Amino acid sequence: MVIPYIVFVLGLFIGSFLNVCIYRWPLDKSVVRPRSACTNCSAVLAPVDLIPVLSYLAGGRKCRYCKSAISPRYALVEILTGLTFVALYLSKGLTVDLLGYTILFSLLIIAFFVDLDHQIIPDQVSLGGIVIGVLFDVALLCAGYARPTVDLPLLANGISVPGSIFGAVLCFAVFYVIAVAASAVFKAEALGGGDIKLAGAIGAFLGWKLALLSFVLAFVAGAAGGIILLASKLKTRRDYIPFGPYMVIGAVTAVFIGASILTWYFGLYF
Ligand SMILES: [Zn+2]
Repeated sequence: MVIPYIVFVLGLFIGSFLNVCIYRWPLDKSVVRPRSACTNCSAVLAPVDLIPVLSYLAGGRKCRYCKSAISPRYALVEILTGLTFVALYLSKGLTVDLLGYTILFSLLIIAFFVDLDHQIIPDQVSLGGIVIGVLFDVALLCAGYARPTVDLPLLANGISVPGSIFGAVLCFAVFYVIAVAASAVFKAEALGGGDIKLAGAIGAFLGWKLALLSFVLAFVAGAAGGIILLASKLKTRRDYIPFGPYMVIGAVTAVFIGASILTWYFGLYF
């Protein structure tokens, strides 16, 4: 079986591009021009410097030109992207769903790291994700493809074009209400505009059921993460803890086991 390896290598190269987006989008720079350069000495990188992971290891984890250390995170993002793509392939097979979810996961990986670094989620990811999520289903409709239906309890999940639009609008609205309520309760902005827009993007890709489940998982992960960060004194009560990374964890979990969770949960009652 050679396909998982091909998917992994493809993921490495896409991860390499995601690194560029993670670095440049928050700085409002183009991801196309100028060509990639060392962040320390500004030397323009040659193709041989841009092979995912291998260039990093072969170069002794240093810039070939100025010998400054390169953060291991670039290689980690590449490997993470490769591994998640393989996991998606093993879970979804060679289907249109695989294509849709690799697009979503690429956006989520960018959101995760940019939110950690800058406490923002770029509009390219959130608003762009809403547009891409809906257009993906429009493209499938035009091409005559239907996404494999997932049988979920209670009403259809419907992730065709109307389902995608409904998912985006509903999730955006739900998060907007939660954000307003949370800021009234905590007297501080607990959820930012970026989180609300990202919620819309997740809704467009997952459909409303899996998206709402992903938010429940995000709040659970956020509560657990907050307790761990406070208990370990990594953060204090006054520190701002970005919520985007938890939304990413929730969405990724929902993609892989959301249908099983919902079926199990509603099976308890019906
Ligand atoms: Zn350098």
